[in-house]
Amino acid sequence: MNQPLNFAQNKALCHYTYLISYCENFMPETPSLYIVATPIGNLGDFSARAIETLQNVNYIAVEDTRHSRKLLTHFGIHTPLISLHEHNEAARSKLLLSYLQKNLSLALISDAGTPLISDPGYHLVTLVREEKIPVIPIPGPCALITALSAAGLACDKFIFEGFLPVKNASRQKKLNDLLYETRTLIFYEAPHRILELINDMLAVFGPKRYVVLARELTKIFETIHGDSLDQLKIWLNNDKNQQKGEFVVLVKGAKHHLSHSDIEAQRIYIYYLVNCLLSKQLH
Ligand code: SAM
Repeated sequence: MNQPLNFAQNKALCHYTYLISYCENFMPETPSLYIVATPIGNLGDFSARAIETLQNVNYIAVEDTRHSRKLLTHFGIHTPLISLHEHNEAARSKLLLSYLQKNLSLALISDAGTPLISDPGYHLVTLVREEKIPVIPIPGPCALITALSAAGLACDKFIFEGFLPVKNASRQKKLNDLLYETRTLIFYEAPHRILELINDMLAVFGPKRYVVLARELTKIFETIHGDSLDQLKIWLNNDKNQQKGEFVVLVKGAKHHLSHSDIEAQRIYIYYLVNCLLSKQLH
């Protein structure tokens, strides 16, 4: 008869069982597409699971092969790369699906952060899932969540709008649609447009709306600075260095929610008032 295991043997067995299940989960027999997050600045944020996954798949789809090769080589990852960017995503997705159907495993990374979040990959993930092939997320850095976690704004409900339109008129229209939104608003912005964005926000939200700029997150010059829009503009203009780098812009939600029908009712009311005043002036 088998002897019962002592404490040390039991512990060793548990550890062994854990390792086996970890390995089975890590590399399932079914070919899979791994969506792997990479650092947004600090290389220490690359997770052990992300590195191991990228070392073990057959191919890694990347936005820019030269950019990613540098990062991957630094971590001893020499897996072959295939480019997948916004201009070739449709065609590349079909090719990558055919690889998965040939039992090859794949990973998708972007230049930085979590793929698909204002980055390519949506088409690929949809196609692969339609074919009932597993898509496995390997979570990690994401600029919007990193910023939100430290901004001191409400996190229970928020909306992420990504990049706003480049043209001023469309950008202001989009901001105007969000004027009465009560949830925290989160945007991505390129460094050369940060002042323009603050000016547009001033025009739409007014000088007293509280906004947080989260700049160069996880990097040497990381700055998370919040103030009213009028003060923020002065602060940015006083220090050109604060206009450099990558930004997440977080806007405190409006105090009271107005639905579209409320806004329409307000518009009709103002129209009616103006007409009354004008007709009185004419008499
Ligand atoms: N997929 C990425 C993610 O998970 O956050 C976002 C990619 S998007 C093309 C790039 C934008 O993300 C930048 O223009 C900036 O708005 C934001 N971003 C990325 N890294 C950042 C950082 N270290 N600090 C602040 N914002 C960052």
